[in-house]
Amino acid sequence: TTPGGPKVSEEKILVTVRVRPLSPKELAAYDLIAWDCTDENTIVSRNLNHERHTGPYKFDKVFDPTCSTQKVYEEGARDVALSALNGINATIFAYGQTSSGKTFTMRGIAENAVRDIYEHIKSSLERDFSLKLSALEIYNETVVDLLNRESGSLRLLDDPEARTIVDKLTEEVVKDGQHLRHLIGICEAQRQVGETALNDKSSRSHQIIRLTIESSLRENSGRVRSFLASLVCSLFWFTMALSSNHGCDYSKSRMFQSLVDLAGSERASQTKADGTKLKEGSHINRSLLTLTTVIRKLSGGKRSHIPYRDSKLTRILQPSLGGNARTAIICTMSPALSHVEQSRNTLLFATSAK
Ligand code: ADP
Ligand code: MG
Repeated sequence: TTPGGPKVSEEKILVTVRVRPLSPKELAAYDLIAWDCTDENTIVSRNLNHERHTGPYKFDKVFDPTCSTQKVYEEGARDVALSALNGINATIFAYGQTSSGKTFTMRGIAENAVRDIYEHIKSSLERDFSLKLSALEIYNETVVDLLNRESGSLRLLDDPEARTIVDKLTEEVVKDGQHLRHLIGICEAQRQVGETALNDKSSRSHQIIRLTIESSLRENSGRVRSFLASLVCSLFWFTMALSSNHGCDYSKSRMFQSLVDLAGSERASQTKADGTKLKEGSHINRSLLTLTTVIRKLSGGKRSHIPYRDSKLTRILQPSLGGNARTAIICTMSPALSHVEQSRNTLLFATSAK
């Protein structure tokens, strides 16, 4: 655990809120600041000219506009991000309305996570690591490979263990930290493709950058442990019929770290700011809506049916969300009064995810 950072228990979803500074546009329009971060866990509305109940809202952390991305990473993501090195799948989301700072924040999270992962790998005496990166975009329930756009729309298939795999998705072997940053840069550039033709594309699309971290015990290290493990392993082999052709994998692990830059959260709300229903279905994003349901059910902790299969995003993320997994959600919001209704929706989502 990070010193000073919040402790994340394994079943809990870490939920933080980041308020960005007023943008130049908001400043030029003399927009007002509508929210106060009263302590490091609490945000409350200033009650300027709206009368609805608006807080105080409490989260694992609230980052005010002066907080650096470094701090957001350390206190809102690092524990979860690095759990993938310890055998637990990790997912970090940025959730929030368009232009609230999701991409800005996730870029910083990726930078910091890359640095930490390589530090860990270099200092690990016990295990050998190998890293692979894949990246995809989901737009209108179509999955596109960000490392190879030419392959068009990718299909989702189920493997024999009923896990969803993305057919023909490129996996690049990552050589070092610099290479990893380079690959992430390619994904960002690819995500811009089509942006001018469809000017609100980035507000509608989800991006997933997934690192696959494979590790194995290094020869001559952790001898006692590997001896014990091989003992358990041989017992296993004795008790099992020897017909299986699976290797005995006690010393190997394969984990995912997923960094998810979601579509604008306004795509999840079915009502406009004034409460009227939107007419066009295209404003509602199926993947985002399903994700909010899945997160709510997961955090509720009840053993109810979790509708992973209702959208592409949740199908792809299923192994990183349920089961042996840790999740961090960074909710981003504008401080401006002009966005107060959407910010409030974001805080309500964040509350339901806790
Ligand atoms: P989103 O991805 O949610 O649509 P962006 O990340 O693109 O939003 O952010 C919108 C704009 O605000 C960008 O110009 C970005 O650089 C700026 N921005 C976002 N968060 C911050 C922040 N914490 N500090 C300074 N500028 C920010
Ligand atoms: Mg963005």
